[in-house]
Amino acid sequence: MIDSHTHLNDEALYDSREEVIKRAKEAGVHTMLCVGYDLESSRKAVEIANTHEGVFVAVGYQPENIEGVDLEILKEIEKLAASSPKVIAIGEIGLDYHWRKKEEAGDRQKAFLIAQIEMANRLNLPISIHCRDAIGDMYEVLSTHTVERRGVLHCYSGSPEMLERFAKLGFYFGFGGVTTFKNAKTTKECATICPIDRLLLETDAPYLAPVPFRGQTNEPAYVPYVLKTIAELRGMDEKELERQTDENFRRLFHVEP
Ligand SMILES: [Zn+2]
Repeated sequence: MIDSHTHLNDEALYDSREEVIKRAKEAGVHTMLCVGYDLESSRKAVEIANTHEGVFVAVGYQPENIEGVDLEILKEIEKLAASSPKVIAIGEIGLDYHWRKKEEAGDRQKAFLIAQIEMANRLNLPISIHCRDAIGDMYEVLSTHTVERRGVLHCYSGSPEMLERFAKLGFYFGFGGVTTFKNAKTTKECATICPIDRLLLETDAPYLAPVPFRGQTNEPAYVPYVLKTIAELRGMDEKELERQTDENFRRLFHVEP
């Protein structure tokens, strides 16, 4: 199994990262993509990946962290991306109108998103996308700014109809703990109808722990709970879903087994 979106670089996991990675591997999660969300967390992610087998990295600026930051900082992210072969994506990058509304933050968030899409294209890397309460604007950006190597909409929270539109653009979809929540009807539906060759498993640890750990600190070792839930939703064999999602990850991020 592969955790396609996790934050071993988050302070909730960083100090215990050795044990967290060990528990993941014992649970069958052999590969993890540790995702940055600003310069500091991206640096930490690279450091962890450089010293752990099976841990890869995405570096980037998440929309909630661009406050008071100049676009110039992306030069540092680009240097970092070129510094290690373990960097396999630019992310997480995106749009988030949950706390700061579109009218207030939209233009600035789009500028950071588009600049990082251009960076990904220069480096020939795919992207890991964070999108909350901004699905329409995200579609507008991705349909007008080609991402050569495509990417994944992590923790997908849009509608099934929008999923189909993003799939036509060539994008992948990450599903995590939310799929195990009883009331998450739309997410369950999306995980069920998602084209099988575009589906990725994730945790977004330390956030969004799956049932029966809901509300606790999430970690990559919990991917099997997500796998089991999605396999049940789709009426699929767990082993087959594992094989398919591993293959999807390797195809998107160009990672050899
Ligand atoms: Zn994340």
